Amino acid sequence: MIHMSNPFEKKGKWLKGNLHCHTTESDGRLSPAKVVEKYRNQGYRFLAITDHNKITKVEENDIILIPGVEVSISGSEYDSSFHVVVLGLEDYERIDNLKNQGLDDLLDYVFSMDGYAFIAHPYWSSLTFRDLSDIEKLQAIEVFNATCDLIGKGYSSVYWDALLAQGKKIGGLAVDDAHRYDLPPTDSLKGWIWLKVEEISYKEVLDSLKKGLYYASTGPEFYSFGTKDGYIKASFSPVYRVNLITRNGRGASINIGDLELFSNNRYEELKLEIYKEDNEDVFEIGRYNIVIKKKNSGICYISAPLSIFRIYSRIEIIDVLGRYAWTNPLFIQ
Ligand SMILES: [Zn+2]
Ligand SMILES: [Zn+2]
Repeated sequence: MIHMSNPFEKKGKWLKGNLHCHTTESDGRLSPAKVVEKYRNQGYRFLAITDHNKITKVEENDIILIPGVEVSISGSEYDSSFHVVVLGLEDYERIDNLKNQGLDDLLDYVFSMDGYAFIAHPYWSSLTFRDLSDIEKLQAIEVFNATCDLIGKGYSSVYWDALLAQGKKIGGLAVDDAHRYDLPPTDSLKGWIWLKVEEISYKEVLDSLKKGLYYASTGPEFYSFGTKDGYIKASFSPVYRVNLITRNGRGASINIGDLELFSNNRYEELKLEIYKEDNEDVFEIGRYNIVIKKKNSGICYISAPLSIFRIYSRIEIIDVLGRYAWTNPLFIQ
């Protein structure tokens, strides 16, 4: 049931979407119609309104609307609740009944009905790692949640990596979880996913979600990511830092800003070499044989040998404004 495909190796179109937000039907500040209008006008192609304990219905043709709801379920190790976002189901009553039976029963039901579900904001919820690793049908967690970031608890990647290090094929989502929208400090249009679909339809959006055919972002963009000839390769929009993340003790973090100031760089022990070639700046880091090329276009390229990764590889990029993008993991044989 759990898939994790590489969206960069699939044909199709990229669609931008947000899978978690609230309206005046629960504790959000904007009406459902205004919320839809806001995302549609900003180029989002799909949206899930996920009010608390209620499936809010809106009529709209210009954006794919995925019915959704956020439910709280007790049972975490230290007495806090799981917040679960359920997508693709129309009938709330059954979900409500299953809430009291526990998370596993709810997820069994959701996936048996061809729906989708993920765990919202693990950091904000003070979940434990065991809370997440015990969930049999876990498919994705929020790696970033914009409204939780307003109190400094937006980033949950530490949980994600703990799960991935166990070989669990879990996707990482960025969402708004918008409540305030334009009221400062704002919490809308700050976290989204780019989803790869072959055709633009509701069914295809849900199918691609289930297959992990997306990456999460709060700003920067990936253009490619995959393995070739024993290397992990990726290209992306201009950033100042790249994190090559894998299991304990391996991986690398490269600060491109520092590379540009190489006369005063921290990478001497990595035998950094920088040279110019055909109007490209090429940065080579000897120890790992990681190569970063920054073309005049501003597109960054990185290639790093598979030997520096264990179990899985994912890439995080961070731009000068501190905005992130996260690929989903590739699992290494
Ligand atoms: Zn929540
Ligand atoms: Zn929420």
